Amino acid sequence: MAALGTAELSAWIHGFRDVVAEKREWLTELDSAIGDADHGANMARGMDTVVAKLDAGVPDTVDELLKTVGMTLVSSVGGASGPLYGTLFLRMGMAAGPVTSLDVAALAASLRAGLDGIVARGKAEAGDKTMIDAMAPAVDAFDAEAAGGADLGAATAAAARAAASGRDATEPLVARKGRASYLGERSAGHLDPGAASTTLLFEALARATAE
Ligand code: ADP
Ligand code: MG
Ligand code: MG
Repeated sequence: MAALGTAELSAWIHGFRDVVAEKREWLTELDSAIGDADHGANMARGMDTVVAKLDAGVPDTVDELLKTVGMTLVSSVGGASGPLYGTLFLRMGMAAGPVTSLDVAALAASLRAGLDGIVARGKAEAGDKTMIDAMAPAVDAFDAEAAGGADLGAATAAAARAAASGRDATEPLVARKGRASYLGERSAGHLDPGAASTTLLFEALARATAE
């Protein structure tokens, strides 16, 4: 695939909703160990609302589509994850602009802007045991593939693998941001729920760009 159009972006969002629904209990279990046991419910409710919005009409341009996703997440998810994922999509849309598709370079720039937005909003750094620990390596891997001339399928596959490694690497970490940080040392020994959902997001992107 050479470029991601609004139909493929919509397929990505639908795919993410489906996998979040499928893994809802797992995300909640992870959040029950180091948080307040609502990450599965938060993400499932948010993505159901997003998909309902898109099913009422997919916007014609990439920026409008991503803005719709972001605004809906910000307004429908109460937890920390809603504004953070919302910021990801809002910033991705702002970086993309009023285009009808994203090629590898444009998607790289859009993802980078989204990541920077989450960091600016949540103030988490690498190793703080948050979604950043999956997202930053994923965006770095995507960039490296894009710079090497990879197509969308190869770049998103590499990003998904990097996200999964980053997620797994959160297990021994002590949380320094979000609710899990209240536990201090007791947060070690568990995967971060947001890093887990972020990996699902990149795996869904890889599936949406596979053919
Ligand atoms: P809440 O903690 O409000 O119940 P969720 O359970 O839906 O919200 O989401 C928790 C996830 O949000 C954490 O696992 C972590 O990945 C992410 N998170 C929390 N605070 C931050 C932050 N400041 N920066 C980045 N990610 C964060
Ligand atoms: Mg929670
Ligand atoms: Mg909560």
